[in-house]
Amino acid sequence: MPPYPVLCTTPGCSAPAAYKVAARWSDGLTAELKTYELACSACVGRLYVAAVEKRVACRLAPGETLDEPGVYELHRGERDKTLKRRPDLESEPDPLSGGRT
Ligand SMILES: [Zn+2]
Repeated sequence: MPPYPVLCTTPGCSAPAAYKVAARWSDGLTAELKTYELACSACVGRLYVAAVEKRVACRLAPGETLDEPGVYELHRGERDKTLKRRPDLESEPDPLSGGRT
């Protein structure tokens, strides 16, 4: 990975990102970690909520699955598989999780 600075994706915030808000997506054949946001430690809570809302709005094709977003520690140069999840930083704004079929 090139050593470019990874910045928080909050508009107007130029702090370096410390976390990644991402969700595991799969179409049954392949799976990947979809990144929604990159967040500094000050913005991670707000961006997590935004990612949850985006997921609710996301339409999936038949056979596709998208897990709930999670907060992962961002370490440059590490592969997604080794990202450490931080459930302590994930706060559900709304206990109603859309119909999982
Ligand atoms: Zn920020």
